Formats: sequence, structure tokens, C-alpha cells
Amino acid sequence: MVWLRVVMDDGIEGFGECAALAEPTYSEEYAASSWLVLQQHLVPRLLQSGDLGEPPGAGDGPAGAPWQAGAPWQAPAAHVAKVSAEVRGHNMAKAALEMAVVDAALRRAGRSLADCLGIAVSRVEAGAVVGIGDTVEALVDEVAELVVRGFRRVKVKIRPGWDLAPLGALRRSFPGLLLQADANGAYRPDDVEVLRRLDDLRLTCIEQPLPPDDLVGHAQVAGAIVTPVCLDESITSLGRLDEALALGACQVVCVKPACVGGIAAAQQVHERCRQAGVDLWCGGMLETGLARSANTALAGLPGFTLPGDLDGGPRFEEGEPVVAPQAIGGWVPVHRGPGVGPPPDHAVLGRLSRRVAWLGAGGLPEKT
Ligand code: MG
Repeated sequence: MVWLRVVMDDGIEGFGECAALAEPTYSEEYAASSWLVLQQHLVPRLLQSGDLGEPPGAGDGPAGAPWQAGAPWQAPAAHVAKVSAEVRGHNMAKAALEMAVVDAALRRAGRSLADCLGIAVSRVEAGAVVGIGDTVEALVDEVAELVVRGFRRVKVKIRPGWDLAPLGALRRSFPGLLLQADANGAYRPDDVEVLRRLDDLRLTCIEQPLPPDDLVGHAQVAGAIVTPVCLDESITSLGRLDEALALGACQVVCVKPACVGGIAAAQQVHERCRQAGVDLWCGGMLETGLARSANTALAGLPGFTLPGDLDGGPRFEEGEPVVAPQAIGGWVPVHRGPGVGPPPDHAVLGRLSRRVAWLGAGGLPEKT
């Protein structure tokens, strides 16, 4: 896990959490690549790009004081986006950099992200997620506990051979549950007959049935089955979303801010989905309470029409800098304090740090 800490000239701090996993199994990006691209390409560019308070392109607020003008996170986020655009890909690293800079801007302004996004609600509905189980009976028991905890939506991971039987049993046991399946790209276009057999189960959607690159295949599946198709891993940018919508590849979208490059990009995805009348929900990576707070604030926007993967709680045995709040009755609270989320526990951050690099204004490592 890679964390960023920015210290502004006046001592204000901001933190960013990179969602990249230890291995490149979920996405091309992984923690070691994020570390390198941040250290060697993104942070040096940001440091060399001038005063964060005067974003290139202007138009974001009065000259010299854009940090305080209007929504205090937008100008710094736009600045980071412009600088980051010189580097291709690496959205999770870019999202972490944006988060750290935006966190500092919000702390300086004494505002929460939710406040700046115009989120009036104090809590957002979360869904539960269940992995591939050993037996159908154990799965039904697990979901029963989640229903008792108050979750109205449960998402079940599926793959060829673990689909119709577990989902059918869940539907029989929980007729009114918002039941959703996530295939993580495990099927192929030839499997459409298998997917068609799920049509009677009234699933909210089937998420990412085919591999991320196969938008044409998703369009074919979407046209061949009744269950709405949701895209998750495929949605890596606004451009990809536009392609998917133009092809008719999905009726539902899951946006993960880390995967599209950050909060501002996720907000653009939200606007596009809202314009297109496409159902949207907020996904998440294996994130702690900082990123999860940003996701929860975003999920309070009106275009997020379905419960998101926002439930928290401790995630790592060795501890984490910010523990994400657990859902109560299926709802998670919106962070209202200054910043993107609660400040991290410095002692935990220090104890967990295996490697630390400081980058100064010249863009060169001062201490490694
Ligand atoms: Mg998914």
C-alpha cells in the first residue's frame, strides 16, 4: 500500500491513499509501479509546476486566491489533473496524488469534501459483498446475517460453475433482496446461455461478466439477456464510459474513483451517467477510511441510484491508518470534518511504513 503525505508551505498537511494492490492481478497498476510513477514522474512534475494556488488554465477562482474561492478542492484537483495528464495511465497513482492535494486544500479551508460537493445527507446506503463460498448452505447463512445487519443489497461473486445454484438458492431464501452478481470478467461471450439462465432471478444487475477490454462482447450480452449488465473494471475513464454507452454495453455503471483517476474524474462519470439516465453506484478497492470517506461523500450525489460498496470496518490484521466506518443498518455516515476523510493515525502510519521517500521542491529525493 502506498500513502502520500503533502506538506504545504504553511505546514498544512494532506494525505492520499493509493488503491493499487500488491500484485498486478486486478489491474495493470500495482503498489510497486505506483510508488515508482509517483516518485519519478507525478510528484516531480507537480513540484515543478509552480504554486498549487494558481492553477494553470485559470477560470477556477480569483487569481491568487483560488484555494479559498468557491469549492476549495476544484482548483487544486484541476491543477493535479493537468500535471498528471502528461503521464499516461496509472490512474490509481494519480488519484492518490489528487487526494493528498485536495485533502490539504480542504483542511486549509476547514471544509469537508461532502460539504463542497453539496451533499446534504448525513448517511449513504451501502451494500454488502460476499465472496465465492464453499457451499450454497454456508452462503445462504452468510447472507442471512447480512440481511439481519440491515443490508438491502447483497452482491455475490460468481464464476462459471458457481452461479445459478448459489444465486437461485439466495433468491428463494430472500425474495425481496436486491441481489447482484459480480463475475469480475470470468465469463466469455460463448457463455451467454449460462447468463441467460439467471434472467428469472430478478438480479439488480450482473457486474462485469466479460473481461474489461471486451465492450463489444458486453454489448452482445446486454442485448441477449434480461438482467441489466453493469460495467466495473471496464470503466477506467470518461472516454471508456462514452464508448460503452455508445455501444450499448451496459445499463448500469460502477465507478471506482481510484480507477478513473480520482474524485474529479468520478464526479464527471457521475454527471455523464446522470445525463444518460444510467444507474450508477460507487465501488471501492481494498481501501481504508480515507479513500472510503471520499467514496462515501461522492456516493451522496444524486446520480448514485444504487447502494455502493461502502461498508467499512478493520481490513488489515496489522492495522490501518484510518479505519473506515462500518455500516449501521445498511447505512454509512458521511465524513463531515475538514478534509477528504479523518486524519490518519500517525503512529500507525509510522509503524506500518516499510519505505519512506521525501521529495522536495526541486523534484529530487532529499531523503530515502
Ligand atoms: Mg466488481
